[in-house]
Amino acid sequence: DIEIAIKVVVVGNGAVGKSSMIQRYCKGIFTKDYKKTIGVDFLERQISIDSKDIRLMLWDTAGQEEFDAITKSYYRGAQACVLAFSTTDRDSFEAIESWKRKVEAEVGSIPMVLVQNKIDLIDDAKMDSEETEKLAKKLHLRFYRTSVKDNVKVDDVFKYLATKYLKL
Ligand code: GDP
Ligand code: MG
Repeated sequence: DIEIAIKVVVVGNGAVGKSSMIQRYCKGIFTKDYKKTIGVDFLERQISIDSKDIRLMLWDTAGQEEFDAITKSYYRGAQACVLAFSTTDRDSFEAIESWKRKVEAEVGSIPMVLVQNKIDLIDDAKMDSEETEKLAKKLHLRFYRTSVKDNVKVDDVFKYLATKYLKL
């Protein structure tokens, strides 16, 4: 059996829910005050697609994203990417294009997906569905609305990326 392992980077502004998403997907838990485990670069989860075993390695940042200080080793060898913003944070939505450019500058064109997290807080949304869909269209990205808190659509995001990667 050939093993397929995919390095996935999860990028976006601070506090959009990246660490929570990785925890949720790999450990099945959600905590209000997630603190990164010191020394752990990524968490992983095994899934199977078309009877192929795939190991997804989800790389977390240690909160350096606000200082534009994500190191090259974070991006190195990335094969897929989640671009995440938060329903309640307008700036995080407006930063998506620049995150996409940053990833592409480091690793070139890889499968990507656009994620609007915290959809459980839709009543407090700082953008409307028209503009989110417009951005997805403009960037040619599949678009998911997730709630890491309520475990809505999180699995779908990573299944999509793995499927897209396999079709390359
Ligand atoms: P990161 O900086 O992007 O890694 O964001 P974190 O994972 O640290 O999450 C920031 C805050 O948002 C934490 O208090 C999380 O509990 C919270 N959070 C994450 N996902 C969700 C969600 O889907 N809904 C709600 N209501 N809160 C969330
Ligand atoms: Mg984090």
